[in-house]
Amino acid sequence: MSMESSSAGRLQGKVAIVTGGSRGIGAAIVRRLAAEGANVVFTYNSSPDTANQIVEEIGEERCMTLKCDVGNEAEVEKLVEETLTRWGKIHILVNNAGITRDTLVLRMSREDFESVLRTNLTGAFLASKGVMRAMMKERWGRIINIGSVVGLVGNPGQANYVASKAGVIGMTKSMAREVASRNILVNCVAPGFIETNMTDKLNEAQQDAIKGQIPLSRIGGADEVAATVAFLASDDASYITGQVLAVDGGMTMA
Ligand code: NDP
Repeated sequence: MSMESSSAGRLQGKVAIVTGGSRGIGAAIVRRLAAEGANVVFTYNSSPDTANQIVEEIGEERCMTLKCDVGNEAEVEKLVEETLTRWGKIHILVNNAGITRDTLVLRMSREDFESVLRTNLTGAFLASKGVMRAMMKERWGRIINIGSVVGLVGNPGQANYVASKAGVIGMTKSMAREVASRNILVNCVAPGFIETNMTDKLNEAQQDAIKGQIPLSRIGGADEVAATVAFLASDDASYITGQVLAVDGGMTMA
């Protein structure tokens, strides 16, 4: 027998929901969960074209996309219902949908503050609440919240975003304690600087300044976040709950 280990097929037969899977880190998570064998339902909010391309790439028999604003309770309920209609079960939820509205506190409107909380924190709450009954029925579940290292250390210009991510970290720990007895594990993945549209826009000097703060001296890839999510979603992570796992090249060591 080969000693080589492989993660292919590690999520075979599992049903996963990923919020905000149409772009960036969420799209990488959708591809990775599907590559490991899961059936994946993912949401988009304003990017139907890229969402449909991802479904085409993975194949309609194992992937489905729905429009869903995670801050809208009725739309989240519909997401859960449609997943159950299609596959009858839900094992994995990845709360990835997130937005930023950066500005200094003195210039930040109440609307700037509340809209970020609504999507990043209330959205994760609504989706988690929505899937819990189905996971309890399976006596197996994984909720993985995408936080951020700024939720641990703060960041000027992001009081709204940091409040949402620190909230996600606290919510992860509370939910983990509530549902542990049902074999539902709740963890948070906290990315550092990850290559996305946002980081692409930084000039070379800005990128060098960022790399100077990172022990691994490079910006991370969305696929590196996705690999961590897939691990936490799998049976390999069966004794891990209530944790915050930073995927940040060593930038924030506790
Ligand atoms: P992107 O901006 O590239 O993608 C955001 C995703 O969220 C899109 O699929 C978008 O859908 C979806 N979305 C936005 N608003 C809503 C909403 N109200 N309801 C449902 N879906 C919504 O983000 P990233 O890939 O960069 O970030 C993904 C996650 O990772 C976020 O939670 C972010 O906070 C976190 N993160 C990112 C870091 C980075 O360096 N990029 C670092 C640390 C954390 P659509 O396009 O259809 O509108």
